Amino acid sequence: MFFALIIVLVFWVIRKRWRGAKKLDETPPPPTAGEDMVCCAHCSVHLPKSESITSQDKFFCSDEHRRLHLQA
Ligand SMILES: [Zn+2]
Repeated sequence: MFFALIIVLVFWVIRKRWRGAKKLDETPPPPTAGEDMVCCAHCSVHLPKSESITSQDKFFCSDEHRRLHLQA
């Protein structure tokens, strides 16, 4: 009975370590997947934040829309 307990404990530790090692091997998700999407203030098109143009706390899909929006 005592040996059985030790075996269960050893198995549990090995399984826990194996899971931890497996987790490290997992490839992280591509950076674009978690990227914020923003909406153009002029034409309401959605685009990644990194590709947008920011002006006066607003996002635009292009420099032309930024210009047109700020003129109006
Ligand atoms: Zn736009």
